[in-house]
Amino acid sequence: MSGRHELKADILIIGGGIVGCATALHLAKRGKSVILLERDQSGMRASGVNFGGVRQHGRAAAELPLSRRARGIWGSLRNLIGIDGDFIQTGHLRLARKPEDIDLLRAHRETAAEFGLRLDFLEQAELREQYPWLSDAALAATYCAEDGHANPRLVAPAFAAAAQAHGADLHEFTDVTEGWYANGEFHLRIKDGRHFAAPVLVNAAGAWAATIAGWFDETVTLVPEIPQVLVTEPTAYRIKPVIGVIGGDLYLRQTLRGNILFGGGEGRANEGFTRSRPLPETTRRATEMAMRLVPMMAPLPVIRSWTGVDGDTPDGSPIIGSSETHPGLFHAFGFCGHGFQLGPAVGAVLSELIIDGKSETPIDGLTIGRFRPKPMTAVDAEAESPVEPATDPTLEPVVEPAAEPAPEADSAVSDAGSD
Ligand SMILES: Cc1cc2nc3c(=O)[nH]c(=O)nc-3n(C[C@H](O)[C@H](O)[C@H](O)COP(=O)(O)OP(=O)(O)OC[C@H]3O[C@@H](n4cnc5c(N)ncnc54)[C@H](O)[C@@H]3O)c2cc1C
Repeated sequence: MSGRHELKADILIIGGGIVGCATALHLAKRGKSVILLERDQSGMRASGVNFGGVRQHGRAAAELPLSRRARGIWGSLRNLIGIDGDFIQTGHLRLARKPEDIDLLRAHRETAAEFGLRLDFLEQAELREQYPWLSDAALAATYCAEDGHANPRLVAPAFAAAAQAHGADLHEFTDVTEGWYANGEFHLRIKDGRHFAAPVLVNAAGAWAATIAGWFDETVTLVPEIPQVLVTEPTAYRIKPVIGVIGGDLYLRQTLRGNILFGGGEGRANEGFTRSRPLPETTRRATEMAMRLVPMMAPLPVIRSWTGVDGDTPDGSPIIGSSETHPGLFHAFGFCGHGFQLGPAVGAVLSELIIDGKSETPIDGLTIGRFRPKPMTAVDAEAESPVEPATDPTLEPVVEPAAEPAPEADSAVSDAGSD
């Protein structure tokens, strides 16, 4: 299957979102030859259309070391990519709207503290005093002073430009349609017939990454998520912190220009998830929820809404690290609607895994192996009943429903959805 004009590098990357571009930059900075292949333009997909939330608050324990490292990079982004990406540290408030949510806030506060992340607990009276624009629907909150927001339109393209400045070779409008492994190299065929090969391949293909994993016999469940974001006309700047809620079904922030961005719920996409659009019922529901928490939004017209596509894993956290089927293949996808904040650190960690074989940032809870069935123990085997056909073999095969998500260390207290 080999093509006539093979283009070679040390490392191939599929996907020019924030993850692929950050990886290209970190690898190129360490002298590796890198070719990045992007179907559209860099940062056009989830990385360029997201809500812009840069939060550690509300993350699962498995993500916190990576998220902590990412926060360090966000604070000095200009040194890395030449711009600050409009990142501002505004703080992030995570609200409880039901009495039982308050326990979840406290539990997450303890988890976060184990990773050195300080969260302050605010009773309702304190909330009302400090944030008078919040309604009584907010019963309590935790506040993370380190979090903030940035401009997604700027960040991934700046990572792409910085990677190019360090020698990475970016091929945009380059749709990878086929991949295979032969003679110690990963081979990729492009829709226009070009052919690329390298001993290392990074799968940073966002919502489409399961297809690429499948080319290399790595099966993974990745469900497209289509978060919908809305924006109002500008109004007086009052809402400094980014707002999130337990469960993650509403998020809200105000830009310095005055527009209020908010999201919650999903839009709709075409079959290949290459085009998506907002749904009126999501607009209505998200607007009602937002007004219930922030009544001053009631007179503000929504001037635009949009969607993007990310990939959801069964446990709400991304898959990062080495493949289990092919040494030299590395995955970074399944960011479940909250990978913008992580992106800069994912690139750093992947470059370390590829070049040094290890990273200082623990990602044990994020590897693809966590979704593999665990080997049966002797106790399990004994508990199994003698083999009896459970179904009539003459009947049509039954498609098993998807397995329940694997419980995560603190999945009950993390906001797995989009910011
Ligand atoms: C509306 C919305 C709001 C969000 N809000 C937030 C937020 O506030 N905070 C936060 O942290 N996260 C947020 N997220 C999630 C975040 O945007 C994503 O998790 C993150 O951008 C993922 O980055 P990525 O590089 O993996 O994916 P992408 O940006 O999707 O990049 C993957 C790239 O791979 C390319 N590709 C795929 N297949 C191929 C192929 N075969 N050949 C060539 N190229 C290919 C695609 O074209 C795409 O450009 C949000 C997401 C959405 C959609």
